[in-house]
Formats: sequence, structure tokens, C-alpha cells
Amino acid sequence: MLVGQKEKGIFINGEWRDSYSGTVRAIINPATLEKLTEISYGGKEEALEAVEEAKAAFPSWSKKTARERSTFLYKAYEKMLENKEQLAQILTSEQGKPLTEARTEIESAASYLLWYAEEANRVYGEIIPSSKVNRRSLVIPQAIGVIAAITPWNFPASMVTRKLGPSLAAGCTVVLKPASQTPLTAMAIVKIFEEVGLPKGVLNLVSGDAKGVGEALTQSPDVRLITFTGSTEVGRELMKNSAQHIKKLSLELGGHAPILVMDDADLENAVDLTLASKFRNCGQTCICANRVYVHREIADSFVEKLAVKVKSMKIGNGIDEATVIGPMIDRNAVEKAAEHVEDAVHQGATIITGGKEWQGNLGGHFYEPTILVDVNDQMKVMNEETFGPVLPIETFDSIEEVIEKANQLPYGLAAYIMTESTNRVFQLSEALEYGIIGVNDVFPATAEAPFGGIKESGFGKEGGKEGIMEFVEMKYVSIGMTN
Ligand code: ADP
Repeated sequence: MLVGQKEKGIFINGEWRDSYSGTVRAIINPATLEKLTEISYGGKEEALEAVEEAKAAFPSWSKKTARERSTFLYKAYEKMLENKEQLAQILTSEQGKPLTEARTEIESAASYLLWYAEEANRVYGEIIPSSKVNRRSLVIPQAIGVIAAITPWNFPASMVTRKLGPSLAAGCTVVLKPASQTPLTAMAIVKIFEEVGLPKGVLNLVSGDAKGVGEALTQSPDVRLITFTGSTEVGRELMKNSAQHIKKLSLELGGHAPILVMDDADLENAVDLTLASKFRNCGQTCICANRVYVHREIADSFVEKLAVKVKSMKIGNGIDEATVIGPMIDRNAVEKAAEHVEDAVHQGATIITGGKEWQGNLGGHFYEPTILVDVNDQMKVMNEETFGPVLPIETFDSIEEVIEKANQLPYGLAAYIMTESTNRVFQLSEALEYGIIGVNDVFPATAEAPFGGIKESGFGKEGGKEGIMEFVEMKYVSIGMTN
């Protein structure tokens, strides 16, 4: 069991270590505010050392056959599933989401290891038909080198494996920096790789001060790519700091997903899907609905049905099997949700349900699931990512109007369409400026499909055959021949 008095949160070249400064960080259960454990907490120095070791491990790891590398991923996949329950408990303890969601996340996280164990063997090159008789043109795929993976707290398992699976499969070596709030799940995953015998130095983990570690990873010329999931603000900073060495980036940043409920939608289904999209992980998901546009003809009955279900959602500690709405990650998250609701109400919004902090007796960070109507485009909730259980609903009359509204923000991660019309599926999917479109589907993330945003939601894909290619350089080899 990982959770104890004190854990070593730094893993470099196959060794679990304390930080040089002796600094530790308390890991807090957001439902109860109890301290779960303390972990050693590093910074720049440890990150640079991890890069050195990853660099040293790269030649032999990248030269292994794809089949050899994939064997480690298969074993780690199996071990993750064997340990599903324990991993889910760790995840819920440090992150807060209901246990059922944590179990699903572990399964999903493991599926990325399986998928990339398979894809490792399908990174093909090319021989291009030459324009000259005495030349042969080859394209050979090669692992890019040492990569840094920086992951967020909202999906502490799947955001880690979504980066480890393809990068390790491609032949890269890795320095992983998990979110400061949720390092325990990442540590448990790294332990699994250790147990299956991954060679030393191939995967390193540095829990630590985000700024210090971030600086080390961006400033080191030996880190050839940074794969990051987190806020647009930090993504922008990483991009700026990566400019010096022209480092490659893959960025999955903030979103502000709209759900478009058309007048021909299956209403019951649309209500259930909206509910699932908005309130899973207490609204702390980068692709979860941040705003709903519902056709005026069906708006009243949509809101009425939604409100009945939202009012019955059980709030509590995620570890309790009956809980549907768990805690938010920290005080700041609660305050942001409250600020968005206050701002909306101040500008004329009506609260249908929720609208305040939950007064349970658990001591943690809770906010009630909230529905707002009478909202407008000036409100913060319609413009900034709330990352909380607040759902603003606006009505629309025409398809042109709703397309314009859906596209008016700088974000472009995910958008959802509820409709039974094939015409509208194509019309809207093509018109919406988003990297991911869910049609009567609010769980589009899956190992076999390319996940990623456009505009200020980032670039680069995770999942699918595209995901592994982020970590591969296509080298062109031109061969001159003598007659
Ligand atoms: P969130 O708002 O979800 O916490 P962040 O973008 O702040 O999103 O955090 C996502 C990840 O980025 C976390 O691992 C966090 O520690 C890390 N991070 C935050 N600031 C920096 C930074 N300046 N450089 C590198 N990583 C950072």
C-alpha cells in the first residue's frame, strides 16, 4: 500500500529518493482534508538529474525492438488491472472522485498501455518512388529522444498512461512530473513499471515544485519534447520557455465545451448525457460541458427534467459507493465556482438548483451541483472555464445562431451535439471549430481515437495511431547509387 507516513516521491534511474533539500509536501484528501501522507518534493536539481538519467537510458531503450518494448507495456497493463481496486482507492483518496469513476479511470488508463503495446509494432516508415533512377528515398521513423510529461490532477491515472504508453512504445525515455495535488496515483503507476522490470532510467518521476521542475524541463536542450495537459495559461508559458531550444510540444489545454441540444434531440437521452458530461468528476474535466445551448421549443422541458435529476444527486465522500458528486480538488476550485455563480446572478441569471457550497459534515471542499438559466454571453461562466459543477443553459432559435455562439470563444477542445438528424450531424460536426465532436456521446476519449484540441486548447493528439507519432521523428534518407 502506498499511503503511509512518508513516501519517496522521486524516482530517478530506478531508485526512490528523497529530495536534496529534504522538502516534503502533504497530500490531502479533498473530501475530509485529512493528511494522507507526505511525499518528498523536489525541484530543478532533481529534474535535471532525471533528464541526465533518461538521456543515458535512451540509446539502449530506443534500440530495443518494438516487440521488446511492447512486452513491458503489456505486462504493466495487466498489472494495472490486477491492482485496479487498490489504484482506484488511492485515486479517490487524493483526488476525490467517486470510487466508481476512479475504477473506470483505472480501466481507461490501462487501456492506453494495451493500445500502445499494440501500436509500438506498427510505426512504419516509407520508401518513396524516386524521381531519379539512381536515387532511393527512404523515410525512417525514430524515437524523438528524452521527453517530459507534465500531468494534471483531474485524471491522475489516465493522463499519465496516455503519455507514458505512446512515448515508451515509440522508444523515448521519460521524465514525468505529476500534479502536486495527486502524485500518489502516478507513483503507484511508476511502481508497476518498476515491478515489470522496465530498465532503469527509462521512466523517471519527479514530484516537486512546478515552477522549478518546469524550468528545468523547458531549459534543458536534452528534453526534446514536452507533452503537457493542464491550463492554457501554463501551456502558454511552457511554449514560450521552449522557444529557446525549439522544443517540440504536445499541449492539451483548457476547454469550454458547448452542448447543442437541437429541437429533434431525444430529450431523455439528451438530459442524461448532459448530466453525465457536466457532473462527472464534479465538473473538473477538460472536455466536460461548460455551457448548454438548447433550442427554445424544448428548453422548458429540458431544464425541468434536468433539474429533477440534479436535485437527486448524492453529494459526499467519493469513497462512499453511493456518492455521485464528490469534493472539488481544493479551496480555490470552490471559490472559482462560487465566483462564476455570483457573477452570473449579479448579471441576471436565475439559479434553478444549487448555487452554494455544500454544508455537509465531512470538512472538505464541496459545491452543490448547480443549474443556471437566463444567462448571457457577458457572464464569466459563459467565457471562462469553470471547472466545477455549474451548468449555465441558454436558449437559441436558429442553427446559424447556435453555431456562431458555440464558436465564439478562443477554446476548441470538445463540443457536443444532441440530435437525431443525420443532416445536422454532418452540418454541425463540420461547422464547429473543435478538435473533438461528440454526437449523442459525451465520453469520446478512448485509446484508439485521436484526442486533442485546436485554437487555444492546444495541439497534438493523444490516443489513436496519431498519438504515437507525436513521439517519432520521420527521418528522410536519400541514397545516391552508382550505376
Ligand atoms: P490546473 O489548473 O489543472 O492545476 P495547471 O496548468 O496549473 O492546471 O497544472 C497542470 C500541471 O502543470 C501540474 O502538474 C502542475 O504542477 C504543472 N505546472 C503548473 N505550473 C507550471 C509551470 N510553470 N511549469 C511547468 N509545469 C507547471
